[in-house]
Amino acid sequence: MSLNKKLTLSFIFAILVAILIISFISNKMINDRFDTYLIDERNKKFETIREDINELFLQKGSSITSDDISNYAKMEGIYIEIKDLNDTMICNANNNMPHHRKMMNNMMKGHGKMMNSYLKNTSGAYRKKAFPLIQDEKQIATLIIGYFDNAHLTESALIFKNTLAKSFILSGMITTVLGLLISIFLSKGLTNPLISITETANLMRNGNLNARTNAPTSTKEIMELSDSINYLAETLEKQELLRKRYASDISHELRTPLTTLKSHVEAIMDGVWEPSYEHLNILMEEIDNMTKLVDDLRNTFQIFEGKLSINKTLFDISEEMKNIIFLFTPIFEKEGFSLEYSIEDNIQISMDKDRLKQIMYNLLSNSMKYLYEDGKVKVKLCKEDKHIKIIVEDNGSGIKEEDIPHIFERFYRTDVSRDRKTGGTGLGLSITKTLVEAHGGSIHVESKFGIGTIFTILIPSSM
Ligand code: ADP
Repeated sequence: MSLNKKLTLSFIFAILVAILIISFISNKMINDRFDTYLIDERNKKFETIREDINELFLQKGSSITSDDISNYAKMEGIYIEIKDLNDTMICNANNNMPHHRKMMNNMMKGHGKMMNSYLKNTSGAYRKKAFPLIQDEKQIATLIIGYFDNAHLTESALIFKNTLAKSFILSGMITTVLGLLISIFLSKGLTNPLISITETANLMRNGNLNARTNAPTSTKEIMELSDSINYLAETLEKQELLRKRYASDISHELRTPLTTLKSHVEAIMDGVWEPSYEHLNILMEEIDNMTKLVDDLRNTFQIFEGKLSINKTLFDISEEMKNIIFLFTPIFEKEGFSLEYSIEDNIQISMDKDRLKQIMYNLLSNSMKYLYEDGKVKVKLCKEDKHIKIIVEDNGSGIKEEDIPHIFERFYRTDVSRDRKTGGTGLGLSITKTLVEAHGGSIHVESKFGIGTIFTILIPSSM
């Protein structure tokens, strides 16, 4: 069932139930109260009649006649009878209305008398009430008043009750129509934006990732849903773009070394190039570059797929940093560069040891790539408040100011032709940044073109 239909039906159902309950309760309460009022009024009237007839009886005694009391009977539509204390009737009176005669006969079996009423509603039970006629506080005769149980329901009372019932039915109808209109309006307000969101989601499902929903709504939850769908579309679109860019970047990255390899091997096969050690070493370097690229790609895809694993252990990072530096010193020295360090002792940290090696390897091999003659790299490790700080500083080429904001991006390289030579993939720093951040840390760069570069890493020591 559609939301529209469901909402409208529930709304109407709730309105009908509410109207039924309200009209039932108020109808019943007003009616009861009204009946009590009318019966009270009737009893007061009976009491007045009794007082009048009592007076009359005191004046006339047993010679009282039907004519004396018939006025009361006619006026009030009741039967009146006076009996002495021996239960013998002295006189009686009723309202003579022929069309009621038969019915009265049946009802007044015991009396064999008739009474009439100008009541419309004569379906109530016939009742008698006895009142004492009193002289000097002593009963001298009995006044009997016969009436219909519903005699208090005069025509106007019935009209009043009827009007009341009608007004409930009428207001029920009006409220139902109004409720129907409001519910249609309300459910449209809810379903229209939902339909628009569904349309957007369907467009996205069919591959149109630049579809966005602009559902016109002021409902908080629907606004949030709409925002979420738009965010999802944006993320998917970005990922799709990245995926496409990666695919072309990767094929480009692999094609260049492969072309070089191919042309060199062809040259050797054609006898143009001698398969000497130097020549084969060039091929070897290309293969190394490709191996590094494949490794970097594997890391990048692990990060991309959220499969980056971090296995933390508690260890002495001071010791570990020294080990890494000892490993790199001969490589630096071979190129005529120097690698200095200033390491604060006994710093404990909980992090992934292999990832630390990867971070340092990336930074040190980067700095070595961009050193000139008399190149110098200095590594610093110290503890600061809740962080440990690693600094890798070089006096190499430095990075141009316009490149600085981009160097942590994937595949970003400042000088592609030179990087080709130095074996850069443009992935190293992006991997480094992700690894540092996976440890809750941060990496910053300061660089002056032609002077040197400083990378600073902060890692929370409490992790
Ligand atoms: P690559 O594998 O090409 O070095 P990176 O992501 O590691 O890729 O670095 C991105 C770019 O940042 C490099 O192309 C290089 O131009 C620049 N860069 C990185 N480290 C240094 C450094 N120490 N000195 C100068 N430039 C650097």
